[in-house]
Amino acid sequence: MSFAIDSAKLSRSGVDFIDEDRLHTLIRRHADAAEVREIIAKSMCKEPLSVEETATLLAADDPALVEEIFAAARQLKRDVYGNRIVIFAPLYVGNDCTNDCAYCAFRRSNREAVRRTLDENELRQQVLALEQRGHKRLILVFGEHPRYSPQYMAECVRQVYATKADHGEIRRVNLNAAPLDHEGYATVKAAGIGTYQIFQETYHHETYARLHPASTRKGNYLWRLDGVARAMEAKCDDVGIGALFGLYDWRFELLALVTHALHLQKHYNVGPHTISFPRIRPAQGVHLDEKYLVADPEFKRLVATLRLAVPYTGLILTAREPPAVRREILALGVSQIDAGSRIELGGYTEAGDSQSMEREQFELGDIRTLDQVTRELLVDGYIPSFCTACYRLGRTGEQFMEYAIPGFIQNLCTPNALSTLMEYLIDYASPETRKIGEAVIRCEVEKLPDGERKRQLLDRLHRIAQSDERDLYF
Ligand code: SAM
Ligand code: SF4
Repeated sequence: MSFAIDSAKLSRSGVDFIDEDRLHTLIRRHADAAEVREIIAKSMCKEPLSVEETATLLAADDPALVEEIFAAARQLKRDVYGNRIVIFAPLYVGNDCTNDCAYCAFRRSNREAVRRTLDENELRQQVLALEQRGHKRLILVFGEHPRYSPQYMAECVRQVYATKADHGEIRRVNLNAAPLDHEGYATVKAAGIGTYQIFQETYHHETYARLHPASTRKGNYLWRLDGVARAMEAKCDDVGIGALFGLYDWRFELLALVTHALHLQKHYNVGPHTISFPRIRPAQGVHLDEKYLVADPEFKRLVATLRLAVPYTGLILTAREPPAVRREILALGVSQIDAGSRIELGGYTEAGDSQSMEREQFELGDIRTLDQVTRELLVDGYIPSFCTACYRLGRTGEQFMEYAIPGFIQNLCTPNALSTLMEYLIDYASPETRKIGEAVIRCEVEKLPDGERKRQLLDRLHRIAQSDERDLYF
């Protein structure tokens, strides 16, 4: 028996728009170099690509041409996002789950999993620990369970915002949780969430059905596929989509992600705010089928192609990946990463230097501290950014796109990145990171054109360094 949904609860665009035959045909297509170069050129003009055009990029097999794709992705990232990398941390609130996803240690049939939901005080302690390390943006993560109702999640979000100490505060809370109905989204939106993230895991129907038992809520493919569209209709207009790579052919999933993004653009005038592309990781009691695992060279290809296909969509690379992979992939178009992450329940106060498989959803590849990651970013020429200004000034959804398209991002985002970085350096960084960071800030300010904005920024940087003034943003 499959989990039934009331079709009246779907969004107005709530149909299954994944045409598998078409996507399978597209991933077998051939392309000549001229065609590929034409599409690269389109993308460099910051125009989103169609699914067919994306498939053409995937068809390039000459190594020199593939290098051209990588070079274009690196350039496009610099053109649209500059050298900023936005930083966040995941916070797992509860791992009770009524679903039985074959790849996840939180699945209900995993009797070995230590089940836990943070109580009010524990949540507060985790948030304080994150603030004391310098975080300003969190994503709260929940299993799917009746106890994690929209009201409950909204209350957690409110608690996070209310937890402050010294200069520590969380300024943007995103959610990664089960798909809700319109009313549920309105409830979490009222608590002030940033992005609502739902990964389809796999867009391939048969694989989806095999990994998500039909008797579970997650077993309903269409309810999940339609999840972010309902969120948008309920005014959660920053949504995140994603696929769990390693479950089915990565090329198929990539084209399906682009299909999903274009579907949202067509119906709601704006695409997803972010796309995530987690690769599957070892998890307790999970025996991975190796057939579709994505090796590093393909992963690189995947990220570069996505960058070219959706120029204005944020791309998130998580700490599932080991440091060396993160370092290489960042340049190809990533705009956000998590850092200093722990995904054991209570991990920010209780975990030591090693990971504990019976307490986490999967094993992380990068458990360096926020300070270490920030320092590496600075040394590699990036500006780690803790900025939350757009969402707080209502620059979300379509509004955000208006700012993004004419290139406003660099005028607003670079100054905001630098002032939030300055806060981090003054309040939380190690002496070594602070020294490198201050040099980077001087150099970045130097690069800005002279004028009122630069003068204001210099004034703000000075105030942050010399006083308790914080949270100054454009
Ligand atoms: N329970 C909610 C759901 O399934 O939508 C919240 C998300 S879950 C806690 C976060 C994401 O982790 C999932 O959507 C899935 O893509 C990913 N995930 C699950 N198992 C994983 C594994 N073994 N390796 C890597 N990522 C995994
Ligand atoms: Fe539950 Fe999410 Fe894990 Fe599936 S992926 S078992 S829904 S926590």
